[in-house]
Amino acid sequence: MFRFRTLVIAIALATGTTSTVFAAETAPVTQAATKAKLSTNPFFAPSTLPFQAPDFNQIKEADYLPAIEKGMKLQLGEVNKIANNPAAPTFDNTFISLEKSGALLNRVLAVFDAITSANTSDYLQKVQEDVAPKRAMHQDAITLNAKLFKRIKTIYDKRDTLNLDPESLRLVEVTYQNFVLGGANLSDADKIKLKALNKENSTLGTQFTNKLLAATKDGSLVIIDKSKLAGLTDAEITAAAEAAKSKKLDNAWVLTLQNTTQQPLLQELTDRATREALFKASWNRAEKGDANDTRAVISRLAQIRTEQAKLLGFPSFAAWTLENQMAKKPETAIKFMQNLVPAATARAETEAKDIQAVIDQQKGDFKVQPWDWNFYAEQVRKAKFDLDESQIKPYLELNNVLQNGVFYAANQLYGLTFKERKDIPVYNPDVRVFEVFDKDGSSLALFYTDYYQRDNKNGGAWMSNFVNQSTLLGTKPVIYNVANFAKPADGQPALLSYDDVITMFHEFGHGLHGIFANTKYASLSGSATARDFVEFPSQFNEHWASDPKIFANYAKNYKTGEPMPQALVDKIKKAGTFNKGYDMTELVAAALLDMDWHSLTTTEKQDPDAFEAAALKKDKIDLSYVPPRYRSSYFMHIWGNGYAAGYYAYLWTQMLSDDGFEWFKEHGGLTRENGDRFREMVLSQGNTKDLSKLYHDWRGQEPSVEPMLKDRGLKGE
Ligand SMILES: [Zn+2]
Repeated sequence: MFRFRTLVIAIALATGTTSTVFAAETAPVTQAATKAKLSTNPFFAPSTLPFQAPDFNQIKEADYLPAIEKGMKLQLGEVNKIANNPAAPTFDNTFISLEKSGALLNRVLAVFDAITSANTSDYLQKVQEDVAPKRAMHQDAITLNAKLFKRIKTIYDKRDTLNLDPESLRLVEVTYQNFVLGGANLSDADKIKLKALNKENSTLGTQFTNKLLAATKDGSLVIIDKSKLAGLTDAEITAAAEAAKSKKLDNAWVLTLQNTTQQPLLQELTDRATREALFKASWNRAEKGDANDTRAVISRLAQIRTEQAKLLGFPSFAAWTLENQMAKKPETAIKFMQNLVPAATARAETEAKDIQAVIDQQKGDFKVQPWDWNFYAEQVRKAKFDLDESQIKPYLELNNVLQNGVFYAANQLYGLTFKERKDIPVYNPDVRVFEVFDKDGSSLALFYTDYYQRDNKNGGAWMSNFVNQSTLLGTKPVIYNVANFAKPADGQPALLSYDDVITMFHEFGHGLHGIFANTKYASLSGSATARDFVEFPSQFNEHWASDPKIFANYAKNYKTGEPMPQALVDKIKKAGTFNKGYDMTELVAAALLDMDWHSLTTTEKQDPDAFEAAALKKDKIDLSYVPPRYRSSYFMHIWGNGYAAGYYAYLWTQMLSDDGFEWFKEHGGLTRENGDRFREMVLSQGNTKDLSKLYHDWRGQEPSVEPMLKDRGLKGE
């Protein structure tokens, strides 16, 4: 998962509970007391640490709310000053001033969003729920400020006569479009309606996130009979016992849930009843009719979003959202996915036959169900490819993969080197910080890793920035990667699956997009691109995990240092397209489900379960044994994060990344020359150019879907 950065250039008047903060500040206290109070909040001034890194030794949970409130108030003042400037609008007094506004707010929100996703608490969740509607209002107060928009439009209309450099011209066009899509052209009455809808959307989005986190935590499967855990490794059983202890359960084992429908442990559990129970715990986690049930929230969210789109003159939320994406129209994205359905489901059906054959051979006397899939698929894999996951893991120790795989690839391609910085404060002992050095040895960025699962962390993996790069603001990138790898018991090594390795390369691909950002304006910097482009650098970087030179450098036995035996490497390679029918089907099913929800043209209330079943059937992707990767009721990307009508972007950018990797293959693969060219023409550019054109300029042609179908084994060589 990648967290899409919202355009934080708005303002809101402090209202409600926020007034307590301002009441303290505006009370008739002495100037000295005010100063003392201000100095105690570490967000009020830029951090004095290297790279302006957040000072987690100073930041307390109570600091966020006052800093956000003050940040909004300050930006409101700045924006009103721009809007009411008596001087005629110029690029500098409008666009540059907007870019410079909101320094405090940006500073605190970057950290707040990181911590509420990766290390939250009951207190922070309350702050988040309180702040969410205010953020929406703040954003609206900028986007819907008529005087400000008039100045923006004046510049936009004569942009070609102003001799702007290309990046500044792009800033004018992107900003103008954001304002228009945000409702700047609406009548005053419609602006009021839109503001109310935005506020409700934001409140419910946060409610969804927090309900889901609680549902996932509560939904973990408690086992009291150890024999039910048959098939798990000793380390996994120890981890399950520790999870039980942390829930204060004696003589029990707890299998915690991952965010996806399928659960990794289903691959190993030999007891079919335990498998079914674990799968159902996952599938029903947010549909129990209790306080954590998300269904009422999502039916209302679907209504709100259709209403928002209609106000803005679009037939559906998807049409509105895709207007500034690479695909441009929902029809393009839907057609692209529908073309994948026959190949994906046909392949999944073939895989199902292989699995059913194993079940029948073992006299199972049942038809394959979703909870059986991974367990028997693993046996098919062993039979077909003689490959056992437990043989692989000892060669994939986390730190070794990071240093000698992920970092090594970045060194070979781009000349980067990394040095751990133990002196930079972190928000949790699991977090590590590295300074990134450029090919000439100069210091380029800070990079944080937070890889282990915790139950106060959202599921999945993601990247974002603590500090955005901008030459205008004089800031360098401070980037983090978060994941949910199983934390080993004390003193044990963290052994990864090959999927985990791919996740590390993926998130670091986003990281490189941030690390190489080299733009003037923060709002066009790094990964601040369209969603259906932003997963391109990350999925592209996944390819290096299996590059022979890179692989040989990291896949070494954690005890002996021996390289992975060639026979095992060959097996992994041969098994590379294994289960891709299932993988592609569950992904396309989720992506189409997202598009179905957001293509609604009616505001009639929908029943989530009925809607979901009908949508999958209509899309011809309702295979009983391949449920969607996320069910509507726990589809965090589309209800809680910024991926509504955007989950297709993962597939779209798979096409770009596989097609892009073809370019490397055609030009000699892993070389510094190829890496430098990719950095220069793609990774450093952020959103400073039209992204279709940027891709075409680098690739030399339009992207083709063929390499993707071949790479995923959905089409013969
Ligand atoms: Zn990603």
